Amino acid sequence: MDNCVFCKITSKQSPAEILMESDDVVVFKDIYPSAPVHYLVVSKKHIPSIKEVLHEDEVLMGHLIHMARDAAEKLGLNGYKLVFNVGKEGGQIVDHIHLHLLGGWAKNKANTVNV
Ligand code: 5GP
Ligand code: ZN
Repeated sequence: MDNCVFCKITSKQSPAEILMESDDVVVFKDIYPSAPVHYLVVSKKHIPSIKEVLHEDEVLMGHLIHMARDAAEKLGLNGYKLVFNVGKEGGQIVDHIHLHLLGGWAKNKANTVNV
C-alpha cells in the first residue's frame, strides 16, 4: 500500500534491520525500542489492524505467532512479551498489523512495559 511505512519495509523499499523473513512475514528491529530487545513481527499483507483481520487471514495470524516464537528462540530469549496494539486508543501508531516482541530484561524478574 502506498505511503505505508511497514509496506515499504516488507517490500524492501525502505531499510530495516531484518532478523528473519518468510514468504508472508518479516521480523525487524523496532527503531525506537521500548525494551532491551524489541522486534516487530510484520505481515507482508497490508492489514490495518486486528479489527480488519478476516477469516481467510487466520493461517497468517498463526504464522505471525510462530515467527515471533522462532525469532525469540533465535535471540536466546527465555521469556518475552508479544503485544498487539489495536487502534489509536490502544496505542497503535502504524496502521499495518504488527506483533511487538519484547524481552531482554534481567533473568527471573517480572516486568511491566508499555509499547
Ligand atoms: P505501534 O505503536 O503502532 O503498535 O508500534 C509501531 C512501532 O513501530 C513503534 O514501536 C515504533 O518505534 C516502530 N516504528 C515506527 N516507524 C518505524 C520505522 O520506520 N522503522 C522501524 N524499524 N520501526 C518503526
Ligand atoms: Zn502496509
